[in-house]
Amino acid sequence: MVVRRTKHIPIRSCVVCRQTSEKRKLLRVVRLPEKSGGAVVVDETGKVSGRGAYVCADEKCVGLAQKQKRFERALAVSAGIIGVELFENLSSLAAKSPANSGESVVETSPTGEVFREV
Ligand SMILES: [Zn+2]
Repeated sequence: MVVRRTKHIPIRSCVVCRQTSEKRKLLRVVRLPEKSGGAVVVDETGKVSGRGAYVCADEKCVGLAQKQKRFERALAVSAGIIGVELFENLSSLAAKSPANSGESVVETSPTGEVFREV
């Protein structure tokens, strides 16, 4: 008898580009419950409880999330609650995300110009 297991893969969408991905491929930002201070933090483990929002592990999306105040909107917090450190943290996580390795091709021309193939 064959036992079939359906593995549930959580899918979430990026607050910027709305592209859906497996949860583990996105960066999670969570708004802590009021009793824990209500701060907005980066959740590297994916296990922090609170209201969460997701962004691609991509510096482009992280940058736009900051510029367009996507997390403020998604998490219903007022502007100013989310500091620049949060985005710096996200960018550095995006830079070292395994989702990005081997996918983006960066080429350097003989003149030293760097262009990126998308
Ligand atoms: Zn995105």
